[in-house]
Amino acid sequence: MPDVLVAGAGPTGLLTAFELERAGAEVLVLERDAGPATQSKALGLQPRSVEVLADRGLLAAIEPHVRAKLPAGHFSGVPIDYRDLPTRFPYQLGVEQAHVAAAIEARLRTPVLRGAAVTAVVQDDEGVTVTAGGREHRAGWLVAADGGHSAVRTLLGAAFPGRPARVSLVVADVTLAAKPAGLAEDWQLPSSGSGYLLPLSDGRYRTIVFGEEQQRLGRDAPVTAGEVQRALTAAHGPEIRVGDVLWASRFGDASRQLERYRHGRVLFAGDAAHIHLPVGGQGLNLGLQDAVNLGWKLAATVRGTAPDGLLDSYHDERHPVAARVLVSTRAQAVLGVPDPDAAAVRAVVTELLAVPEARRAVAAELSGLGVTYPGIAGRATDVPASADGRAVLVGAAVPAGWAGRVEGREGAAPRLVRPDGYVAWDGGPGLDQALRRWVGAPA
Ligand SMILES: Cc1cc2nc3c(=O)[nH]c(=O)nc-3n(C[C@H](O)[C@H](O)[C@H](O)COP(=O)(O)OP(=O)(O)OC[C@H]3O[C@@H](n4cnc5c(N)ncnc54)[C@H](O)[C@@H]3O)c2cc1C
Repeated sequence: MPDVLVAGAGPTGLLTAFELERAGAEVLVLERDAGPATQSKALGLQPRSVEVLADRGLLAAIEPHVRAKLPAGHFSGVPIDYRDLPTRFPYQLGVEQAHVAAAIEARLRTPVLRGAAVTAVVQDDEGVTVTAGGREHRAGWLVAADGGHSAVRTLLGAAFPGRPARVSLVVADVTLAAKPAGLAEDWQLPSSGSGYLLPLSDGRYRTIVFGEEQQRLGRDAPVTAGEVQRALTAAHGPEIRVGDVLWASRFGDASRQLERYRHGRVLFAGDAAHIHLPVGGQGLNLGLQDAVNLGWKLAATVRGTAPDGLLDSYHDERHPVAARVLVSTRAQAVLGVPDPDAAAVRAVVTELLAVPEARRAVAAELSGLGVTYPGIAGRATDVPASADGRAVLVGAAVPAGWAGRVEGREGAAPRLVRPDGYVAWDGGPGLDQALRRWVGAPA
């Protein structure tokens, strides 16, 4: 019997499984779809996610698929310079989400069980019984990473407050039989308007379109080549010709977040816990950071070494981060409204974002590098993660009671670095307290 079941083999579920396995837990990932994802919603990795993936040796397998290193993020299409960010990776990686997921999956010890849609969840004091693909699976814990329409969320009746979508958009990957004059063939930051075209591999172009037609059609209406053609003609003029629509989907600007990320023995992560308009490129990155925050805490809980409150600190730390992203994406959505007054606000915001202090604050937020947690002294980018998911104590002897549970390292700057890379103690008094808080009571 695995220690943990993970529902959903998207990037969040896969990285959570990787983190759990790294820290010694037995995991089984249950995925609804029959095969690995071939289509990608997200096309970018923010700097903090790049740091985390690099630290775990996962970046090398992603790098061959990287199409661009963009030295900027964007706030509703307004470029935000990343070049002076305090990181080895002061850029967004332009890469299709499916490659990120595949790179993580390739490193899992236990293969993902596919064709296993979760349809029932029953929990008791000792564990969780999950029905998936018609079979029952039992484990101590369940991580629900089954996306924005989370079946687990519905099955548990978990409150998911927020507001429904008010606008409808279409994302489509298409081939072009005729291109508009001056079409950029390199990877660029998306613009805020309908009809931007981004060249993917193999002659595919990514577009996102939204206009009156998309608002009129129902969310379940199939996306047709004619609909995409009309929207691209409106954006680029009559010379553009859509060839094939290879993949298309409708999405909206619903903005919701779970009240609680933990429901007994079920923990929610990624889009299952929070949804928002994918403007600014933050959803995937939020999910990856949820995974690295949750993985080691749940692994310690499974091992029976977790200090009181460790698992609940997952909600306490990650809920405010996503809540802030929801505020940011709602603000960005307003700036994108095709209306003269919204355009005026956009002009003012664009001016303000040229002020270095403002730009740096927004860059810290979008890049994920500004994320920190109460009592945490930032992240340690010069302390590689331990191979087995333990905390790392730099520049100080590991006290006897914690021998074996913390990896000791030489170093001039004393620090206790949590398995997710955040600094729980940075010298001076308080090491004992930090060890008790994040690693557990001494043996
Ligand atoms: C058009 C668009 C563009 C985007 N662009 C960006 C971007 O540039 N940058 C960015 O950071 N984010 C972007 N996002 C958001 C990003 O794609 C998501 O935040 C990300 O996919 C979340 O990952 P996840 O693993 O939490 O969920 P998902 O990727 O949705 O994965 C959930 C998995 O669960 C599986 N599943 C579903 N139901 C069940 C079930 N009942 N049982 C078992 N498995 C189940 C699904 O098949 C899927 O594999 C974009 C989103 C959209 C729609």
